[in-house]
Amino acid sequence: MTELLSVEHLTKSFGRRGLLRRNDLVPAVNDVSFTLARGETLGLVGESGAGKSTVGMLALRLVDPDSGHIRFDGTDVNALGSRELRRWRRRAQMVFQDPFGSFDPRMTIGQALLEPLRLHGIGDRASRRTTIDELLTTVGLDGRVLDRYPYEFSGGQLQRLAVARAIVCEPDLVVCDEPVAALDMSIQAQVLNLLHELQERRGFSMLFISHDLSLVRVVAHRTAVMYQGRIVEMGPTADIYENPMHPYTQALLSAIPLPDPSTQRHRPRVDLPLVPPSTVGCAFAPRCPHAMQICRTSRPELESVAGASGVTSCHLFSGSAEATVVESSAATAGRS
Ligand code: SF4
Repeated sequence: MTELLSVEHLTKSFGRRGLLRRNDLVPAVNDVSFTLARGETLGLVGESGAGKSTVGMLALRLVDPDSGHIRFDGTDVNALGSRELRRWRRRAQMVFQDPFGSFDPRMTIGQALLEPLRLHGIGDRASRRTTIDELLTTVGLDGRVLDRYPYEFSGGQLQRLAVARAIVCEPDLVVCDEPVAALDMSIQAQVLNLLHELQERRGFSMLFISHDLSLVRVVAHRTAVMYQGRIVEMGPTADIYENPMHPYTQALLSAIPLPDPSTQRHRPRVDLPLVPPSTVGCAFAPRCPHAMQICRTSRPELESVAGASGVTSCHLFSGSAEATVVESSAATAGRS
């Protein structure tokens, strides 16, 4: 698969720069790198506050990074001026969590769907209407919705319309930020199926951001697990879910209910203490059941592990003498 998006060493802090001291800035994303191939879905998972949404906004340059690079189909996105950036936005779109908040309540659905086509100068009046009619059919609605306002729809219908609006300009990348989190369980599957069908048909890439690991397992080709602004494990989704390496990934997965009650009863669950992350060494160390002395002083790098298809940042796999001794017992415990 050819590469569409490459983000390199993205870092972003938020805080009160200018009002208080620089060290009051809080890092939301810290040295994050990944690639995304054409037609591929990368799932971004982690607890609330892990930095997932900020990565999505950085990838679309809705916020500017403090440092790092974004390359999109060979273009350095950081270097785009405002006019070029506006043109580029046609190729990279977003679906937000709250469909009601993502539509202007004063605009009809027809106006909301037409606006991106108009802004980017795509087609004439007649062809735009044809595009929208076809799109509405694709998302299971019809032209009767065009004169209605967002408040007249259910959450599921409106999220389907949000998907329609995101793809109306035929983007290469769609960033979906918790796209079904606000919907009922029964409606979630409809929207996920819609995204999957559209991706199959149109070939766009997806960055799928979610706190729900069971959803990401279904939709993503590869998965990246984030903790405290950093990617701590990344690899093919099947491998991450069947053989997680990082203790944080193991803990997240152990919390997903299994369909078989007897397997569920006998599966060990890793309960993590609710303590703040460490700012020195491994951020996960205060919560990690396998923490070693080295974890409290040295931050592990994200690196590949012999015999595994993915990468992880954990001293259990870093190959140091101390880590190697602990690795066999901890890894076995994690896979039992
Ligand atoms: Fe746990 Fe140490 Fe690995 Fe961090 S580096 S996840 S503290 S074992």
